[in-house]
Amino acid sequence: MSFCQEVKRELCRVEPKKLHCREAMLYGVMRLSRTFPAEPVVFKSENKGFADRYAQELAVFGTLVEVQSDLRRIKGDQPVYTVCVPDTHQRALLARHFCLDTPGLHPPFVERGCCCAAFFRGIFLAFGSVTNPEREYHLELNALNPMLAEELFLLGQTAGIRFKTTRRKGNEILYLKESEQIEDFLTFLGATRSALRVMDVKVIKDVRNKVNRTTNCVTANLKKTVSASGSQIQDILYIEEHRGLSWLDEDLRELAQLRVENEDLSLRELADRLSTPLSRSGVNHRLRRISEAAARLREEEARRHPTEEVEDESGS
Ligand SMILES: [Zn+2]
Repeated sequence: MSFCQEVKRELCRVEPKKLHCREAMLYGVMRLSRTFPAEPVVFKSENKGFADRYAQELAVFGTLVEVQSDLRRIKGDQPVYTVCVPDTHQRALLARHFCLDTPGLHPPFVERGCCCAAFFRGIFLAFGSVTNPEREYHLELNALNPMLAEELFLLGQTAGIRFKTTRRKGNEILYLKESEQIEDFLTFLGATRSALRVMDVKVIKDVRNKVNRTTNCVTANLKKTVSASGSQIQDILYIEEHRGLSWLDEDLRELAQLRVENEDLSLRELADRLSTPLSRSGVNHRLRRISEAAARLREEEARRHPTEEVEDESGS
């Protein structure tokens, strides 16, 4: 079962006690319906739980409701269920009761906090979706037209939900992209278990990112140490080959030996291993003197054997 289906299943179990909340839920879906009340179809959904639930709630109003499943139309691995009110007269009664002639939202259905939550719950169940937080933080509602999108946006604000809006294939979309906002919205709708799931995923992701950052940092530092010590070692080996380490000043010999034998030691660690203690910058200074000595030696060798050096370079 997808995360979205889990959230919807949890929301279907929320049972509002008060009649005004039940009406708010019915109202939200009818108000945002693409076809109702002009046509029998209230909404289509792959979520059978909500289709049945909605039909039951409407039946309380004495409305005859049909839930049809079209097995030829499959979304994911689920058939699509259609909630219909076939009778024209009953559609007219519902339209009057729920003030569906007015183009915007009818305040009495949504102004109480409890009703506002039930209203958004219905809309999310019929026209909303949420992505698995392990993949991406994304929740959206399909808002039918720009005017309703604007009203839903403002109503969301009064409940502390800051939707963003966009347009996709002629549809008005309200969406949330931040994990905290998705948690708050799911909690507001009554899906507290799903909200906790989003929170858990966030914590695990944060820890994983931190571990990755630290590992990358350690790897980068190690690479830096090794590449620096690589050129130091080349210098020392060059000196050893052409003059022997005894050619170096006495205070540099022990360090040169240590460096060659311990490629991955940091300056601090090299300092600690010297027979006479030295600071980190002291070690750095001596390594630089070794490199300078090697550079001098290379120049000297180049002057003495010009052809040989050229051959060496072309061969390397
Ligand atoms: Zn209410």
